[in-house]
Amino acid sequence: MIPGKCRSRLGSGGKPAADSETIGPPVSGKVVRTIGISFESHFEGGNGELLAIDGDEVCFRVDKRKSPVCLWWYVKLDGVAGRRVRLVLQEVSARAGGAMEYADGKVRPVASVDGGPWRRLRPGFVDAEADKVTFEVPFASTARRARVAFCYPYVYSDLWRACRQWRKLPGVSVGSLVTSQGGRDVPLLLIGDPDSAPRDMVAIVARQHAGETPGSFVLEGILEALTGSGPVGKWARSKALIAVVPAVDVDNVAEGGYGKDERPVDYNRDWLKPRRPQTKALRRLLADLASRHRYRVFLDLHAPWTADPNMLVWTPPELVDEATGRAQDRLARLIFAHQTAAFDVAWSDCLATPESWGNWQLMSGIRQAIDHGVASVCVETTYHRTHAGRWASPHLYRGHGRAIARAVVDFCREDS
Ligand SMILES: [Zn+2]
Repeated sequence: MIPGKCRSRLGSGGKPAADSETIGPPVSGKVVRTIGISFESHFEGGNGELLAIDGDEVCFRVDKRKSPVCLWWYVKLDGVAGRRVRLVLQEVSARAGGAMEYADGKVRPVASVDGGPWRRLRPGFVDAEADKVTFEVPFASTARRARVAFCYPYVYSDLWRACRQWRKLPGVSVGSLVTSQGGRDVPLLLIGDPDSAPRDMVAIVARQHAGETPGSFVLEGILEALTGSGPVGKWARSKALIAVVPAVDVDNVAEGGYGKDERPVDYNRDWLKPRRPQTKALRRLLADLASRHRYRVFLDLHAPWTADPNMLVWTPPELVDEATGRAQDRLARLIFAHQTAAFDVAWSDCLATPESWGNWQLMSGIRQAIDHGVASVCVETTYHRTHAGRWASPHLYRGHGRAIARAVVDFCREDS
């Protein structure tokens, strides 16, 4: 404890939350306070470096590890009963992508109390000069432990829990793509028989950037539709071969690393002469399957910058032949057309990959489009709010995924 070290000055407009808005079960009985708050980040998917605890104020910063910045953080607090905790994220511009990204209520992290449902916090107060954001979190007197994260967590054990469910579904096999550098199994899902007569082939990858958790929930929605009893599922079982790597960077998914632009090479900039085991194996697998099937669609599931809305991003048409350019434009327009009102994508937020993103010709979608002439779209799904101001949730992410699956099926059907 370092008294006074991180005492926050709340910015203007900071209204204290009403007691009725405490997080946790309803108050009953007397208020119980523990001796102090404790902080933890060394758990599955956790990220955060404690700087100081001063009474009800907890100051921390992100742990960048091998990335130049880190949007992802995920911490546990113990001893929060009856406290109005001030959770202060420091060095936000220096380490976490920019303090002003959190301004104007654009970012609302999520919290879960004692294993209960995740709820969004109220907007934080940005002190740009001090490079910090403060979230006031009032906890009920019955609350004991809280988990607080930049966005809904989806960790390595969540991935395997999902794999165990997927493998029960008809036509789905779950195997191993490769072992990661950290010694973890990288799961590979196949829907359909790779040794069958040629089928329409769709490849889907998620979590090349491990901290971009929305991609995993979107993938759950896509797979729900592709394995369901409706027309999308029927098409998948009768006409398609779907290859899915639900988490590419499993090591950072497990260890809480953000992963983007990580040394020695970003997973999504490793697709020309791969150095990582996952990208080597995945490129080889897709080339092999493409030699035996009609490779139609490559989907790469990400999340955008801190407060950005949903986006679709595709290969600049000048990098591919005319037919491929037309195909990916049609796929992007179909995804846009299938969107639901509940979780919108604005066409004005969709674009060809800008050269300024860096090493663009080494990216997975662009390489697959160039090498295989496949319609390739990168789906960037917001951590926080859509263009129309809807707050994202796992439920809405999955709905977004189901809409994307319908678009993929329409795309393949129209083109056959
Ligand atoms: Zn990404």
